Amino acid sequence: MNLYLIIILTILIGKYLLNIIIEHFNIKNLNPELPEEFKDYYDKIKYKKSQQYTKENSKFGLIHSTISISTIIPFIIFGGFNFFDKIVRNYNFSEIITGIIYIFILILLSQIIEIPFSIYNTFVIEEKYGFNKTTVKTFISDIIKGLFLLIIIGVPILALILWFFSETGKLAPLYLWIVITLFQIFLMFIAPYVIMPLFNKFYPIEEGELKDAIENYVKKENFKIKGIFTMDGSKRSTKTNAFFTGFGKSRRIVFFDTLIKKNSVDEILTILAHEMGHYKLKHIFKTMIASILETGLVLFILSLFINNRELFNAFKMDNLSIYASLIFFGFLYSPISMILSISTNIFSRKYEYEADKYVLKSTEKGDAFISALKKLSIDNLSNLTPHPLKVFITYSHPPILKRINAIKNIVVHSSNCNQ
Ligand SMILES: [Zn+2]
Repeated sequence: MNLYLIIILTILIGKYLLNIIIEHFNIKNLNPELPEEFKDYYDKIKYKKSQQYTKENSKFGLIHSTISISTIIPFIIFGGFNFFDKIVRNYNFSEIITGIIYIFILILLSQIIEIPFSIYNTFVIEEKYGFNKTTVKTFISDIIKGLFLLIIIGVPILALILWFFSETGKLAPLYLWIVITLFQIFLMFIAPYVIMPLFNKFYPIEEGELKDAIENYVKKENFKIKGIFTMDGSKRSTKTNAFFTGFGKSRRIVFFDTLIKKNSVDEILTILAHEMGHYKLKHIFKTMIASILETGLVLFILSLFINNRELFNAFKMDNLSIYASLIFFGFLYSPISMILSISTNIFSRKYEYEADKYVLKSTEKGDAFISALKKLSIDNLSNLTPHPLKVFITYSHPPILKRINAIKNIVVHSSNCNQ
């Protein structure tokens, strides 16, 4: 048996089994006893509902990954990749056009498998727990807009990658690294103006107490922003969130309308302070640098596997091509990607504690912040007691109870120091 095939099957099955183990521990870790901290926020019935939500999502995830793995492995073994390659090659287009069509077909195939899961998740699970606000019309138009974006953003990038690898020899990864990084930065600049309005409506926040409070706070902190917006998150879900978009002076803060509805002015202010903390403490900048470095690493390793005959044999391919190399490399890269994502999560969780600390330093509204975090967690029916293994591998934010404890420790500590 081909060595690459053994490696790739091991990776696929290994990841699948790891996922089962994580979910098993996570479900076992659900504690029917409501944590003391949430006594005033949850009743028994709602707490039970949050645990059922965790269980249902976990079960759904396992069914999803079981079906995915049982389609992809036969597809590899029985030469599915070669079957479609031969069809596209029949048309004798140039290598770049052939590659674009080939990859587009594979993406469409995977979408066809994914869409029923997405429908079930939105219209069955999220609906059952009262989150879903997505209409069938929004659901379909989201898919169409997603495909449209894939074409106008994905096709040029793919064409560039194929062109550089076929024309510029050994230095291709370096050139591509520069071009892709510039393109990503460009996308980040235009996203708030061009891409995000495709999916949601953004309104400048209404005049009033909240707007005044935010403006005063931002001024006090000497933080430049272009505007304060609300977003119609309620169009899809009752879940709540807040985030910044843009760079430097063109930064905007965006609150989901659902978040504004459910939180007091002080609570919203602490959420803003947390997001601002990420900027002030250079988290956003560091995360961006890390992602640029990862792009460089991916391109460099990828260049080592372009047109590797053994790797193509693993996928039963008759013809070598740069475009298929990209896909096959993706299978080999996935364990590295997983290790990188675990380390990104470790940093991300550390940054969350730091941004929380920043809230206390800059607003002195610890109680409002804790209450905002609790509401956020309840509104999203978050798992209050995730298993440490699940947290270690998949959580970008620390579990809520740990965050609250850390905040309380800081408050207690600083009040002791004042005495
Ligand atoms: Zn954060």
